[in-house]
Amino acid sequence: MTDSSTTVRPDRRAELAAGLARVQARIADACDAAGRDRADVTMIAVTKTYPAGDVLALAGLGVTDMGENRDQEAGEKAAAVAAAGASPRWHFIGRLQRNKARSVVRYADVVHSVDSVRLARALDTAASTRDSPLAALVQVSVDGDPARGGALPGSADPDVGLDAVAEALAVAPALRLAGLMAVAPLGWEPERAFARLAEVAAAFRAVHPGATELSAGMSGDLEIAIRYGATHVRVGSALLGMRPTLR
Ligand SMILES: *Cc1c(COP(=O)(O)O)cnc(C)c1O
Repeated sequence: MTDSSTTVRPDRRAELAAGLARVQARIADACDAAGRDRADVTMIAVTKTYPAGDVLALAGLGVTDMGENRDQEAGEKAAAVAAAGASPRWHFIGRLQRNKARSVVRYADVVHSVDSVRLARALDTAASTRDSPLAALVQVSVDGDPARGGALPGSADPDVGLDAVAEALAVAPALRLAGLMAVAPLGWEPERAFARLAEVAAAFRAVHPGATELSAGMSGDLEIAIRYGATHVRVGSALLGMRPTLR
């Protein structure tokens, strides 16, 4: 269970401030190198495994967007953070089972990991009680391996084909199709993965011109993702330190 403590020691606060300064400099340099406007790239602090106090400290340093990948941990942390008076945007970035949809829509502002029509429908039903639509991204399988999650580009599969998932989000009244998300597959050079993703994103935007978000890039590869058009980078370890367990 994650520590839901909301207190932060001064040395931890200083560590987070230093990590944030380093990551912000990397993002600014990558935008410069790519000829992109810094304002077009949002940094999501991936706070999984770290306590609510770290979220509050990051919020105090100006970070507006937080990412989590497990429903129970995210729900508890979001509640603790809200009770302490902060209200960051919460991005759900992990694999999501349909039976968790009702829980996730209570705290999440954006779900990055929609990879089936059935999940899109479960989220739409669950989100119907919200005041505003839930933003949703289609998670794309860059290598086309169905075992590892992600909708399949170019596939006519009615449940996990990328076009079908995007369309299901586009027509869902309680959801807003915001764009695409991907993780570079294990064993792929990030360069190759994000170049492929950029191709998929271009074809996708021709059909869904309003869905302009591209969530790609993590601590190790954010520069390359920015070069290939990422609008959202999801940064964990470079900001908060190495997680005790790899996930
Ligand atoms: C954990 C995680 C991240 C952050 O990874 P780091 O390498 O720690 O920056 C980004 N995206 C997803 C989907 C994750 O699960």
